[in-house]
Amino acid sequence: MATAHTLSPIQSFLDALRAKYADYREGEVATYIPELAKADPELFGICIATTDGYVYEVGDSRQNFTIQSISKPFVYGLALDDHGAELILRKVGVEPSGDAFNAISLHKVTGCPLNPMINAGAIATTGQIVADSPEQRIGRILEMFARYSGRPMAIDQDVYESESRTGHRNRAIGHLLRNFDVLVDDPTATVDAYFRQCAISVTCADLALLGATLANQGLNPVTGQRAIKEQHVENVLSVMASCGMYDFSGGWIYNVGMPAKSGVAGGVLAVLPGQLGIGVYSPRLDAQGNSARALKVCEELSRAWELHQFNPPYCPQTSRRLAYTAAERSSSRTRHSSHRGFLREHGQRIHVVEMQSNLAFSTTEPIVRAVLERVGRPLAVILDFHHVSAINGVAVRMLVDLAEALSRRGAMVHFTHTHRHEVMRNQVASYLADRGEVEALFRYHSTDGAIERCEDVLLEELNASAVSSQRNLDEYEITAALTEEEISLFASLLKHRSHASGEKIISSGEEATNLLLITKGVVGVWLGGGASEGNRVASFSVGTMVGEMAFLDGARRSADVIAEGEVETAAFEIADFVRLQQSHPGLHTKILRNIAVSLATKLRKVNQDVSVLSAARD
Ligand code: GLU
Repeated sequence: MATAHTLSPIQSFLDALRAKYADYREGEVATYIPELAKADPELFGICIATTDGYVYEVGDSRQNFTIQSISKPFVYGLALDDHGAELILRKVGVEPSGDAFNAISLHKVTGCPLNPMINAGAIATTGQIVADSPEQRIGRILEMFARYSGRPMAIDQDVYESESRTGHRNRAIGHLLRNFDVLVDDPTATVDAYFRQCAISVTCADLALLGATLANQGLNPVTGQRAIKEQHVENVLSVMASCGMYDFSGGWIYNVGMPAKSGVAGGVLAVLPGQLGIGVYSPRLDAQGNSARALKVCEELSRAWELHQFNPPYCPQTSRRLAYTAAERSSSRTRHSSHRGFLREHGQRIHVVEMQSNLAFSTTEPIVRAVLERVGRPLAVILDFHHVSAINGVAVRMLVDLAEALSRRGAMVHFTHTHRHEVMRNQVASYLADRGEVEALFRYHSTDGAIERCEDVLLEELNASAVSSQRNLDEYEITAALTEEEISLFASLLKHRSHASGEKIISSGEEATNLLLITKGVVGVWLGGGASEGNRVASFSVGTMVGEMAFLDGARRSADVIAEGEVETAAFEIADFVRLQQSHPGLHTKILRNIAVSLATKLRKVNQDVSVLSAARD
């Protein structure tokens, strides 16, 4: 576990907070379980665990004490995992009782305990944990806590025996539950398991991690282990929010605003969903049975750090990272100038929205709205998931519904950079079921690849001469402004070659002896190891030239060039170019100028891309 840096303002705040309340000595240590009376009343620890697994701690944060009632919401979670919410809700309610935690009270009509945080509800809940024997039951409970805390858990034998000797009231509750058939087997064994679960030994750091695991949708943020099914986290937090702090639950949620649970040994655990777990320990309890110092600490933390759940930080549309059209930012395909012109004019029918952060209802709704506001009659809408960190079910359904609505209007919709979101892909597949669109949605891995294909479709739709068909040499970028005579001289110097699909035409690192004109098909430029493991950074179609940088500066080839489908090239040798300088200086200059124009066009494209990116950042 990482320890906070001494310069951290968060650590300093916690140090000061502990110092401030160390002199606060209100309340009394619990004595009704005789062993608890032995606790040193001065012990005082505070811990905060973040949902990325960082733990801040101050004071007696590694002091062991017994979990007591703080075990109740977690065992409730295990019961939900074992049986589902429907069955458990028939056994134990979720209404605050207004009675003391150890009241012998059951619902007047149903005979069920009012909620799982009072002892009656907690004992009934422990009775629901699936096991063949009492040992197995407590074993499963200990294993569950180990998943939350990330370490093996043990029972404090002295506290257990002490409560077992004196816990007649809880035994009475057990028998009452048996009488109403809320418990169906031996109540003595169930109450015994309950005593043991309350005597599990924990530290403040454990409590903070238990809380951070709930804050992290049930995944322990340090170990990555799942402690509870994701769908039951909200149930657990709900009962903590309404009934977790004994008869101060209303006041607590009003002041502190976080689901929490306290125990008679002096521990308090609070959870800020999605953000933090807090553990505080100090044994003196106030009149309601909550640790008096922990209450002060949590109230002050909530105010100082603005943690109240009903005052969440405002997140304005942060989920839209960039939105642009192919007119503003085209693909990395270098195309013939006539095609570039078409795409500048019509490229606004290809829309790209790059999303980011966490997609849930409130962050996805602005995306849906923005897409619908921006697109008129779109040819394609590309939704890029590269910077998305998490997506929930409703966001998946909203984006799929949007995709369906757009494709009904005739648009192609592609979800790109989804490889990190396996779960989302599965959700999309099951949501679409047999509606078929799944493959088309995920056809392109990268946004660049998707834009490139959509541009091809757009050009075909515009009847621009087929994307990979041949052109006359006078239409090439390298022959601009050449006379007919110069063109035929230039043509006589070219060496024509055909390449099979997948052939490596240029290899990174090799010496450059020529530049290549693409006379048929498309070539891809790959960095870092070619088509299988590398990264396709650009592509070229008919009429353009490739390899002109090394042609000019004599450097080695910086990337691989690979034929995509059948390709034909015409090589223009450096040696011939050098000879032209003597024999035909005018032609040499024109060619040099055309190469310079080709480079300038590429540079301009890069500048344009940068300006789209920086405009979006403003
Ligand atoms: N084992 C304790 C009891 O049942 C837990 C009480 C508590 O922490 O609220 O009395």
